Amino acid sequence: MILIVDDKAENIYSLKALLSIHSFPVDTATSGEEALKKILANSYALIILDVQMPGMDGFEVAEILSGYSKSKDIPIIFLTAVNTDKKYITRGYSSGGVDYITKPIDPDILLLKVKTLYRLYEQSRQMQEMHIDLVQEVENRKKAKREADEKAAEFRSILESIPQIAFTTTAEGALEYNNTRWLDYAGSAGEFPPVHEEDEDFRTALLRQIPRGLPIEMEARIRRRDGGDWRYHLVRVMPVRENDKVVKWAGTFTDIEDQKQAVQKKDEFISIASHELKTPLTSIKAYLQLLQREAIDKNPLSLYIDRTLTQVKKLDGLIAELLDISKLESGKLVFDQTTFDFESMLTTQIEMFKRSYPDYLIERTGFVPVPVYGNESRLDQVVTNFINNAIKYSPDERKVIVDARVKDNELWLSVTDFGIGISDVDQKKLFNKFYRAPQAVSSFQGMGIGLYICAEIIRRHGGQYGVNSEPGKGSTFYFSIPLKKEA
Ligand code: ADP
Repeated sequence: MILIVDDKAENIYSLKALLSIHSFPVDTATSGEEALKKILANSYALIILDVQMPGMDGFEVAEILSGYSKSKDIPIIFLTAVNTDKKYITRGYSSGGVDYITKPIDPDILLLKVKTLYRLYEQSRQMQEMHIDLVQEVENRKKAKREADEKAAEFRSILESIPQIAFTTTAEGALEYNNTRWLDYAGSAGEFPPVHEEDEDFRTALLRQIPRGLPIEMEARIRRRDGGDWRYHLVRVMPVRENDKVVKWAGTFTDIEDQKQAVQKKDEFISIASHELKTPLTSIKAYLQLLQREAIDKNPLSLYIDRTLTQVKKLDGLIAELLDISKLESGKLVFDQTTFDFESMLTTQIEMFKRSYPDYLIERTGFVPVPVYGNESRLDQVVTNFINNAIKYSPDERKVIVDARVKDNELWLSVTDFGIGISDVDQKKLFNKFYRAPQAVSSFQGMGIGLYICAEIIRRHGGQYGVNSEPGKGSTFYFSIPLKKEA
């Protein structure tokens, strides 16, 4: 807005008319005092100031304005009489005014000056705003840097306080920071600790994983530089992201040697214990079978022997599972494969279940018309496990459907029951070692090993497995294996 200051109403009128025609917003004051009040209250882009006014003249107004920070940069055009001598003109400029026009006013010249000064004012105002923005930006950046430095210091002190060896790398995998424990294992801060010759080197693993941007987890043996044994460490390296982009990697080495040894000792113990249990049990089973043959039809002895034999078979099955799991852990589970008649294996199996569980309706659907290449006794074990579970976990709805057929050059087998079913959460974990659904734990006996072994057997046959189930309605456990020809 432009402020016109003149004590004569007709001057104000004509100036206002001229400027308004050219779309300049205008305000007016009829004395120096009024002008000062208005300038302090509003903001103006330009002041057109009459010099000769009664009371405070134009130069005095300008002098006062130059003393205020709010107004000192507002350009002023002084209006004076024609015969103004040089002394007045100089006075006009030195008191902060920036231009001068003599009366009678030439409208073109006045407009030209108004436009120029108005534009200059606008530009300088914009520059000032930009300057303020820049100062703010610099401040913000300084603050952000301070905060980042504080965070980095905090992060480092955390890394120093943890019992693990810790490090960070750049997004490209170059070592950036490591805690002091690092140097107990590595030659320098810039290199990874050397690993046991049979284990994969960290740098190679990291570089392989970097393009994928996924967390890394690996186990490898390292040892202290001041001597000592190779000890297994779990290495976890996580990508640190900013705006979805990996900006660095942060990792730790955790000593897991003791846990590893404990697990190994436990596995060895299970293996030894189940072997030791198996030998006398096999004798007991053999003697019982002899007794069973002798005692036939001599009730009630025969009945007791039958029952004992059932329990012994259960025990035998449990010990077999324990033996299998320890063989699996040590990589000693044998998987010789041959071509065999799956259909007749399954028929025999179902007949046996029908005899053992006469109060269950065990239905067979489908047909496997071709021989199957695989490990017969292990596949038999999977089928037995599925049917056993179907019977065990459906105490009220005593019906089980076993379906086996060939589809798309694959053998498909499924066992459906109408029993307690399994929740979605549990379904995902059933094939894990030792996992038992909470419902099973409270009401049924078991060790949670069977399905884990089944899963491994199917994996070794290059197949797939899974379960569909609804709590309270029942479950279908299934597997499929590709039909291969004998090599
Ligand atoms: P176990 O039966 O000895 O516990 P498994 O490995 O054979 O061990 O099975 C693991 C778990 O899967 C069981 O504890 C049970 O919770 C669940 N499960 C397996 N089969 C069924 C089924 N047919 N119906 C409901 N739950 C089942």
